[in-house]
Amino acid sequence: MTRLLDGKALAAQLRAEVAAGVREWMAESGRAPGLVAMLVGEDPASKVYVGSKTRACEEVGMRGRNLQLPAEATAEQVASAIDGLNADPEVDGILVQLPLPKGLPERELLDRVDPAKDVDGFHPENVGRLWLDQPAPAPATPSGIVELLRRNGIALEGKRAVIVGRSQIVGKPMAALLLRQNCTVTVAHSRTRDLPAVCREADVLVAAIGRPGAIGAEHVRDGAVVIDVGINRVRDAALAERLFPGDAARRTEFEKKGSILVGDVDFAAVAPRCEAITPVPGGVGPLTVAMVVSNTLAAARRRQGR
Ligand code: NAP
Repeated sequence: MTRLLDGKALAAQLRAEVAAGVREWMAESGRAPGLVAMLVGEDPASKVYVGSKTRACEEVGMRGRNLQLPAEATAEQVASAIDGLNADPEVDGILVQLPLPKGLPERELLDRVDPAKDVDGFHPENVGRLWLDQPAPAPATPSGIVELLRRNGIALEGKRAVIVGRSQIVGKPMAALLLRQNCTVTVAHSRTRDLPAVCREADVLVAAIGRPGAIGAEHVRDGAVVIDVGINRVRDAALAERLFPGDAARRTEFEKKGSILVGDVDFAAVAPRCEAITPVPGGVGPLTVAMVVSNTLAAARRRQGR
């Protein structure tokens, strides 16, 4: 029987644990840890992500605030807003929602965030610390995946892990974290030859590609654990039906909204082969938000030398 790895339930548990930590931290420091999420421009999906992160902070007793800058903000204006947050002693965590509007120097601006407040773990100093196994905030999505595997009792030591995707925010840090768990790690990407054969070597397969249903049954060996990071909005009715054949609930959702969210894995084709698999939605997504909150508490503790 395939096990469904429930990210939503684990995220609730993680948030409860962080809430307990926040109460303890507040009793000692006399204030709540603070996260500021900076959003430049009006991208609707980014607005949703930013809102869910600051709301999650408030739910665990932290101060969560959105800092909205106009789409036409200059690099100097964004830099100056980041400097202000770096200097504010009540701000423990800063996240700059990506993607930034075209024309802004994304890397330069991310590098400007104080590494001690960089709860996304995107600053080069924190990327280096991650690969050196030193304490540092690790990017939220791969950290959440490791928690999901660990707390579902999925042993990683000595396992073959294949990650499809080599982005800075998912694929590469996922490789570092799975290496730390003593997996034997392969990172595949768009130039990988014979991707299905590479993927079939995986005991643990992580798909972070950004293409709906790209990982099919031919990519998965029997008994694998499959983690689907992808979040893709599908507006094509035929593709939605191919990915969820005969799924009445998905069809109703599609008819109501004109689209559905799907992962990078063809769930209907792959799930029967797996030992365990994450759903989309309700798998990796909620964990990402929970780990941002957890990283903010950890940053507050580190800033106080605890
Ligand atoms: P990204 O920066 O666009 O990277 C995509 C990666 O996939 C690249 O390394 C690319 O290879 C590789 N790729 C593209 N097409 C491929 C193909 N046909 N075969 C093999 N590899 C291919 O994406 P990302 O930011 O990592 O995000 C990936 C997905 O995860 C997206 O759907 C995103 O929405 C989702 N996501 C979800 C969460 C969450 O919380 N659940 C968080 C972050 C992202 P090259 O490097 O060779 O171009």
